[in-house]
Amino acid sequence: MPTVALIRPLYEGDESEFQEPLGIERLAGFLKANTDEEVRLFDRRLYQQERLFGLADENSFSFWDDFTRAFPVTAPPDIIGLSVMTAEDVPDSLRLISRLKTFYPRAHFIVGGLFVTTALDSAQRRFPAEVQLVSCEGEIPLLETFRAVMAEGVVKTPRFESEKCDAERFDARSLPDKSDSPKDIHLTPDGWAIASRPDLERYLALGCAISLQSSRGCHGSCSFCATPKLPSPYRRWQGRSLPLVVDEIALLSAHAAESGLLPIFNFVDDDFGPLSRIEALDLELKRRGLRIAYALQLRAADLLEQDRLPERLAELRKGGFTRVFLGVESLCPQTLEDWNKSYATDKLPEVFSALKKAGISAHIGYILWHSGTSVEDARIEAKRLWEMGLYCPKVAESRMVLFPGSRLHERGLAAKQVSHAACWEPMSAESERFYQQLSNKLRPVYDAWKEGAVLSPWLAAQAHLTGERTLIEALDAVLAECDRISYRSFVHDEFPQDLHRIAAKLSQRITQIRQTALPMRNRPSKQSADNPSANRPASRSSRRREQ
Ligand code: SF4
Repeated sequence: MPTVALIRPLYEGDESEFQEPLGIERLAGFLKANTDEEVRLFDRRLYQQERLFGLADENSFSFWDDFTRAFPVTAPPDIIGLSVMTAEDVPDSLRLISRLKTFYPRAHFIVGGLFVTTALDSAQRRFPAEVQLVSCEGEIPLLETFRAVMAEGVVKTPRFESEKCDAERFDARSLPDKSDSPKDIHLTPDGWAIASRPDLERYLALGCAISLQSSRGCHGSCSFCATPKLPSPYRRWQGRSLPLVVDEIALLSAHAAESGLLPIFNFVDDDFGPLSRIEALDLELKRRGLRIAYALQLRAADLLEQDRLPERLAELRKGGFTRVFLGVESLCPQTLEDWNKSYATDKLPEVFSALKKAGISAHIGYILWHSGTSVEDARIEAKRLWEMGLYCPKVAESRMVLFPGSRLHERGLAAKQVSHAACWEPMSAESERFYQQLSNKLRPVYDAWKEGAVLSPWLAAQAHLTGERTLIEALDAVLAECDRISYRSFVHDEFPQDLHRIAAKLSQRITQIRQTALPMRNRPSKQSADNPSANRPASRSSRRREQ
């Protein structure tokens, strides 16, 4: 049987939120369900995060240790897949491919992910010609590649393999033999396999929630977003049946309980769907007696003009709905219309007041700086957000990015204003100057806030599940201080003289809260593996061999 390794490369941008690599975990689950073959997963960012937070040191196994122990040159992998989500993943991917080729010259390389899907031209230029590129979801192309290797020992694939995305439904287990396997098939969300998560405990030890996907596509069509320009089956909103979603939650909750960890979930869907779908999830969780905490993302329009919104949200909160991310994006009706995202912004205060009353923490996506923003407008909008309790340091930083695959990026390309890569939308000289200065000055506060904001969903969920509110209240107080400093500086020009010192203290406080909330679980060291008699836990790699 061919052997497969799937890798998430390092991200060389500003890492804002570290999550499980659900893409490669789902691919591994799918391949396993259809071939009974084990797929090895390697997350370069996980090793990096463990070092960053002191859960690993120079004596711990590195990515290269683990990879070469799993695949010695005498037993190389047949297929090496990389998940490349953004342009910032490309440099590490290229270095990896080059280095891995010297170890494993006969391995077949396959690269997929959002970057290939939305910026194919760029991917074709940047990756070596012999690397197979896959757009959209990668389950079927990976399975076909696997079967080609199994049948012939080599892969003769086209440079670029896209799916025509015509078929409406596909049951993974009924995949026809390779000889008559069609290329134009894709999975529906109900055909997704349960993700394989061999390293779940490592992510949870870092304070990650368990990532889940319950739908794909979106009901919206915003001009700054790449989702509406995806091929048709991926653009259109399609939900996974909630009983299947809850089956996976039940499995993962049991797994977390065995490891003494909390069942905290985060739905990564672009658009979870209407309020009634959250209520259906809540009912199914209650019916099965599952006590979890979860966060999800909605379009702001999903909560507008709902009957009995405060009562319904309060009921959901009791069932574990602790946090929502809402794509508000702008309070200006004209700007929203320009972005093809019109909705009744005047109703937002009612929505946020109902969320607050229910105890659901709300975070928003907002694009303050764009081609139409003047400094005065930006301050007025920031003031309105502050009055609604929605201002945070991220607002001052938030600027329109023209993503490849979006209509705004296409427009910029046609006007020869932008290149093929993602970039900021150009602004007037005055706004550009002000933005750069503001961003530089407030950077220490933003960095401190970001550390706390990443921890906040986990602590809110923990408070729900344990009733222990001390840490979340302490963190909320630090974050509120970050908000206040950023707001006063930006809108009222009141920069504290010792801003660096204040930000360092806030950051220190957040680190203390983090260390109290997430007691260190160090990764085993190389010495413990080399010396079996040492009175230490066995290495992860050796545990894997024993299993
Ligand atoms: S920005 Fe959000 S709401 Fe708009 S199209 Fe993209 S995913 Fe949908």
